[in-house]
Formats: sequence, C-alpha cells, structure tokens
Amino acid sequence: MSFSSLGLSEHLLEVLAEENYQTPYPIQKEAIPAILAGKDLLGIAKTGSGKTASYVLPILSMLPHAPRLRNRHVNVLVLVPTRELAVQVGEVFRLFISVFPQRFKSLAVYGGVSINIQMQALQGVNILIATPGRLLELVESKAVHLSSVTTLVLDEADKMLNLGFREEMNRILALLPEKRQNLLFSATLSAAIHDVTDIILHDPKLIKIEEKVEEIPLINQMAYWVSEEKKGPLLRYLIQTKDMQQVLVFCSSVQKANRVAEKLEKNGIQATPIHSKRSQHARTKALQRFKAGELRVLVATDLLARGIDIEFLPYVINYELPRSPKDFVHRIGRTGRAESPGEAISLIAPEEVTHFKVILKKMKAWVDKIDAEELDLQGY
Ligand code: AMP
Repeated sequence: MSFSSLGLSEHLLEVLAEENYQTPYPIQKEAIPAILAGKDLLGIAKTGSGKTASYVLPILSMLPHAPRLRNRHVNVLVLVPTRELAVQVGEVFRLFISVFPQRFKSLAVYGGVSINIQMQALQGVNILIATPGRLLELVESKAVHLSSVTTLVLDEADKMLNLGFREEMNRILALLPEKRQNLLFSATLSAAIHDVTDIILHDPKLIKIEEKVEEIPLINQMAYWVSEEKKGPLLRYLIQTKDMQQVLVFCSSVQKANRVAEKLEKNGIQATPIHSKRSQHARTKALQRFKAGELRVLVATDLLARGIDIEFLPYVINYELPRSPKDFVHRIGRTGRAESPGEAISLIAPEEVTHFKVILKKMKAWVDKIDAEELDLQGY
C-alpha cells in the first residue's frame, strides 16, 4: 500500500516522497482514512509508531476545506503534555504545511518562555499545538479563542493525565464547540484513559498498535557491572573506544546530570545537560544542536525519555537506572528506531543489580553482561 491510495492531498504526496516516507506505517494506514472520513479516533500507540504523521497528514488534507476564521480563532487544537512534544509536533506540522499554496499557519505554545511573543504570534494561526497550562493563560488574556475548533487532538493523553492536567483539560474542553472531531492518542489504555475517552469520543474508531515485536532485536542491550566511583571513567572509556559520535546519557537526578556533563566536558568530550531546571531556551537549543549532530553527548533526566523522537540515535547509556521499568523501556526506545539498529548500555552499580534484574524480567529481555573490572580504565 502506498500513501497515494489513502486519499491525502496531492501536495502532501510530494513532501512524503521527498522525506522518504515510502509506505504508510500500520497506524497511518488505519488512521488516515478514518480521520478523513470525519470519525473520532482512539489510537493506542507509542512514539515511534508514526502516530504524529497519522493525524498531521489528514488534518492538513482537510484544512483547505475548513471554514475561514475570525482573527485569533483556530481550526485545530493539539494538546500535548510537554514543551518538547509541543515543539516536535509543531515541526512536523511546519514541514508538511509548507507545500500548500494557501498560507496556513501552525504554532506551538508552551510554558517556561515569554508569553508576549506567543500572544503576538497567534495572529492568523490555523493549527495550535499547546500544553494545557499555557493555553489557558492565552485564552484568559484573549490572545486565542477556541470556539471555532473543528478538530481536537490529545496526544500522549495518558501522560497528560499522569502529570495532573485533568482539571486543565476539563476547562479547555468546556471552551470547545460540542460538534467537533476528536482524536486521542495514548501509549496505554488505563482506567483513567477509559474515563476520558468515554466523555470525549463519539463512536470512535479504535486503533491499537501492538508493541512492534521486531523493534526489540534492533536494540542491542548491554550491561556493565561497575562500582559507583568507576562509572565516570567507564562512561568516557565507552564513548571513546566505541567512537560514539551521538549519545544520550540518562541520569536519575538533575544534580547528577549536571555533574556527569561537567565531568565529560572537563575530559574534552562535548556534553550538555538537559533537565527541568534548565530554561526552556537552553533545553530547546541543546536538543536542536544534538539533533543536528553538533553536540556529542546529551545528559538527560527522564524528562526526555518519553515522546522525543531523535532519528538514528545509535547509543543510549543508562548512567543510573530509572525507578520504573516503564521508564527504562522509554529510555532505550530512543535508539533502534525506524529500522536503524542501536545499542543501549546500562551501567549497573552493585546496589542496582537487584532492581536491574526486576526490570529485565518485566521486559523479558536478554542482556549481555560485562564486568568492568576486566577493562583497563586507566587514563579515562
Ligand atoms: P512518531 O511516532 O510520530 O514520533 O514517528 C516516529 C518516526 O517515524 C519519525 O521520525 C517520523 O519522521 C518517522 N516516520 C513516520 N511515518 C513514517 C513513514 N511512513 N515512513 C518513514 N518514516 C516515518
């Protein structure tokens, strides 16, 4: 099956070819015709499944037929849980929007940056991607009106609920017209999600994309048994000897992420920390540089584990383990995506061994184990 048989706008087919999207992913095959037919949709799918394009493409195909809007009214609202996801979804819209002869405009808004610039930029926007809190601020200051929204997308709805956005979501829903198309995406189908879908969706098409079994072998997992004080030298040893040019390192706290990045820099390895205590500007810039291949090591807390898509990331290193096995899966899911093989390496201190075994058991994963004592870490 090709994209041309799905009923998408001709303009989009050209960009898809340029972007080397040859065949639609399973979620796209099912979601695109359903959305174009005006149906509500419940998509159970993770980042990496191609879910973003599965709603971006049909939404843009329908946009030329949408009613013209009064100023500061938007046609499409995409709610997302994090700033990073807002930026990322915004980029996908921008990429595909550029080919339309009409001048459509999309904008991503999120907290942690000046609201004034966003207020000005909201002029003439058709598609708004927003985190809930900032959206409400903008509504309150009358910078945007939601009463003309014809399509609502809730992306990573499970995370939105986990982060406590339920009340904000309800307030936003109350501002939307009753008649609209609702598209909800979630990585899991929890009881809380059931609740929300019951309220929001009307006779939805359910699409469930099972975890890609073939994705797991793409990730080659390794674990190093290492004492806490040798983790630093081992990290530098791995980066140098494996000649890693782009690696995402995970720590479990902000302080640790700062320290690890600082130590790498001191040893001549270009690194930047990224976590909730850094400004939005610094985070966006670090991520951009990393994506562009201008930054060798990004040291992150779990803030980044979900939702962020970095193409062709060959290495992920767990400097410390996350508390939950779910976060572990999200972390290593950053690598080995889109048919490019990747390596996920975990540095396990003696006090983490039991926890690591629990994680592996839950994942039903097999991992090669190496004792760092056998390596010569002198000079690293
Ligand atoms: P997502 O799950 O939306 O974060 O998408 C994961 C990655 O897959 C992104 O890098 C997309 O650019 C890429 N992608 C999505 N759909 C396709 C497709 N049909 N063919 C090739 N790449 C795709």
